[in-house]
Amino acid sequence: MPYDKKLNQFQIAQTNKYNVYRCLIREGPINRAAIAKRMDLSIPTVMAIVDDLFKKKIVRSMGKGEFGVGKQPEILEIEPERFFFIGADIGRGTIRIVMNNAVGEQIACMREPTGDPFPGREFIAHVQKLILQFVEQRRIDASHILGAGIAMPGLIERGTGKVIIAPDFGWKDIPLQDWLQENVPYPVLVKNSTHALAVNESYIPGVDDVHTTFCVNLGYGIGAAIITGEDLYDGTGGISGELGHCVVDRDGPLCKCGNIGCLEAVASGEAIARQAQTIIAHHGRSMMTELCGGNAANIDAKMVFEAANAGDNPALKIINTAAMYIGIGISMAVNILDPDRVVICGGLMRNGPYFFERIRASMEEHVVTRSSRSLLLSAGTGGEYSTANGACRVLVNTLWVQRALPI
Ligand SMILES: [Zn+2]
Repeated sequence: MPYDKKLNQFQIAQTNKYNVYRCLIREGPINRAAIAKRMDLSIPTVMAIVDDLFKKKIVRSMGKGEFGVGKQPEILEIEPERFFFIGADIGRGTIRIVMNNAVGEQIACMREPTGDPFPGREFIAHVQKLILQFVEQRRIDASHILGAGIAMPGLIERGTGKVIIAPDFGWKDIPLQDWLQENVPYPVLVKNSTHALAVNESYIPGVDDVHTTFCVNLGYGIGAAIITGEDLYDGTGGISGELGHCVVDRDGPLCKCGNIGCLEAVASGEAIARQAQTIIAHHGRSMMTELCGGNAANIDAKMVFEAANAGDNPALKIINTAAMYIGIGISMAVNILDPDRVVICGGLMRNGPYFFERIRASMEEHVVTRSSRSLLLSAGTGGEYSTANGACRVLVNTLWVQRALPI
């Protein structure tokens, strides 16, 4: 059919253009012939696409190559200041916002306490204001911002960005993406925090041969995400990776989700603090008592780690038990997924290497296969803005798949 043929040609042209653009971002500075070879395209096709990108000021020239003999090809790269993307990480304690340029470099960031998120609509208006002010302060025209990716803990519905449930915020059925979109002049995309974090942590510049990454986020709660190749596996309804709500102790405490003995109820930052409170209230003979000034209600996971790192036995017992359960949880995921790589991130990992090594020991003890024992287990490297940067990456990937970049 002529119509289909025409549509297919358009789709092919679009795909070629996006592939050249991606090649420039990933492998630039690069010349036209190298792009053609890398993308398996003809040189005239690449020349036409690059001319178009030049006209739109998306590509710039770096001059001619300096080495070798004969006529040197022109070296090209993406104009980094042509487009910008916003990423926001709405955490229970802190909101972090970043701005990334067209080539994915973080060029600005800010953080501020989350405050009381419970009024819902008012809190969302506050987040909108923060994002708009952040852009305004950088003196960047809003028309150059291509979107805002928002990372939020909880179950997020795929496609709509609706918060199905966010226990840490006391939210249920909040149309967060729709509400945030009001008054924001560029597309807004809401994703689960751990999914965003995993997308950022699984990206290793120059490494293409990682097939599956399992990313674990250990903080106030516990989440996880699966990345296959470069793509997030987010499940049928977008809620994959709920490692924190896998039951590991049927005789354990009640979890916020209503089940008994979930991993989150026995090994999260909140669970660690709660166990410390019980010990302080009943025994009192622990460094943790001094660290919280004698008031058990003041203890947090950071203090428990501080005491454990100083050799305090009650604190060590809490940390060792949490690490054992986390290792069991990860071993189950490894047995099912057989990933190449497991990355452990989150606030709990900022308390020294001991916790990581105990998790590793437990995981190695509980996995079933030899190959699982030799998989690459590492701590996250993206720092405190990793989730916000991941929200940016998720947004860019979505615009890419939808062919919605203005290229
Ligand atoms: Zn649970």
